[in-house]
Amino acid sequence: MIRRVDLRGRVAAGELVDLPADVHALVPRAVFDVEKALDVVRPICLDVRHRGLEAIREYGERFDGVHLDDVRVPAEALKTALEELDPTVRSAFEESIRRVREVSEDELGGDVESEPAPGGRVTQRLVPVQRVGLYVPGGRAPLASSVVMNVVPAQVAGVPSLAVASPPQKEFGGLPHPTVLAVCAMLGVDEVYAIGGAQAIAGFAYGFEGCRKVNLITGPGNIYVVAAKRFLLGQVGIDSEAGPTEIAVLADATADPAHVAADLISQAEHDPMAASVLVTPSESLAAAVEAELPVQVARTKHSERITEALGGQQSAIVLVDDLDQGTALVDAYAAEHLEIQTEDAEQRAALINNAGAIFVGGWSPVSLGDYCAGSNHVLPTAGCACHSSGLSVRSFLRAMHVVNYTRDALQEVAGHVVALANAEDLPGHGAAVSIRFPGDS
Ligand code: NAD
Repeated sequence: MIRRVDLRGRVAAGELVDLPADVHALVPRAVFDVEKALDVVRPICLDVRHRGLEAIREYGERFDGVHLDDVRVPAEALKTALEELDPTVRSAFEESIRRVREVSEDELGGDVESEPAPGGRVTQRLVPVQRVGLYVPGGRAPLASSVVMNVVPAQVAGVPSLAVASPPQKEFGGLPHPTVLAVCAMLGVDEVYAIGGAQAIAGFAYGFEGCRKVNLITGPGNIYVVAAKRFLLGQVGIDSEAGPTEIAVLADATADPAHVAADLISQAEHDPMAASVLVTPSESLAAAVEAELPVQVARTKHSERITEALGGQQSAIVLVDDLDQGTALVDAYAAEHLEIQTEDAEQRAALINNAGAIFVGGWSPVSLGDYCAGSNHVLPTAGCACHSSGLSVRSFLRAMHVVNYTRDALQEVAGHVVALANAEDLPGHGAAVSIRFPGDS
């Protein structure tokens, strides 16, 4: 069901010289060829740019099997979706929203003022991005929780204008899934579009009839969404490449194999390209998880998708010599989600630099973070966690320096500015300062 990669003794035998560097070859990601997908999405994006709504409608018909005259979700449909939302689900979303909001508010921070010389002030002002487009996936599963993860930090950041897009669903008359609509209504979002995939990202980036272009697009999605974000970067800001999901679990013999297996399955459930990786020095844990997986998979609803994900090259049980080697390996792998289920989980978590989010100990499974931890579930995948962060309130803020010097403060540093300008052979730069002090030599 899941392959084994046995690395024990291979470093000592000189077979693996640099384990962290080798990890990407030993446990490669799924074949997720964004370059190839770019060939598919490039014409879609350009078509949307030139033909706007007409092109968006045609791609909705082609990829989602839905014909819509108007892709804007009517206010009445949002209201009805909220009225019809199961009260248990509604109260769960309310709690999820409350927690994400509290974490976002705590992270908000404020302006920073410095005075590097008397009378010379530099203030870093945090300003919200003015208009954002939030993508909520809806191909395989209606990820209504992604509405919370996108919208709440944007609202806390103070974004004045935001719009949501999610694929139209045939069985719901061409509207996005009703739970997605209900959560939009709960959060007071009234600009919602029934558009999926690359055409949604391009629609946000270029604007179309009835929808103003946005400054920033955030949210997870499949390979076409990721490719479109990459293609349009520069035209528009993007958060990160949040593609098919990944879980890496670093565990020792103290971990519960049934819990570890359940966590590996929980992320494999997202996508046949999802990666589930267990790294452990414990032969007994590895064997117990191997035994547990088929039992639990047989009981789950999406067993076909999960079996494909667990059986792919991207999923593995990796046996290492010891936990230190395992720690170096998961750090180099830079998983979207990293669980640490070891006796010393907290200390070990402090050693990790590269992960989208870390889940510490046996009582912090990734599923908690997917919905109700208060953390954000839109996280960088495919190793991007070594340079990108997950979505947060900061994703929706821009930092802007405001420079405010007095006459005396400028005069005091004028000589340095002139010297540096001359050193770069840009005397006009120096002149712009010295002209203000004609008496000084
Ligand atoms: P999606 O909404 O991302 O994609 C559906 C859209 O893809 C459709 O509307 C259609 O327009 C487009 N599409 C489908 N086939 C196409 C084709 N052949 N050519 C061009 N466009 C096509 O929904 P999904 O497919 O369910 O994917 C959701 C993804 O989001 C999963 O991979 C999941 O793992 C990922 N995810 C990631 C994170 C994260 O933070 N990294 C979080 C949640 C979900």
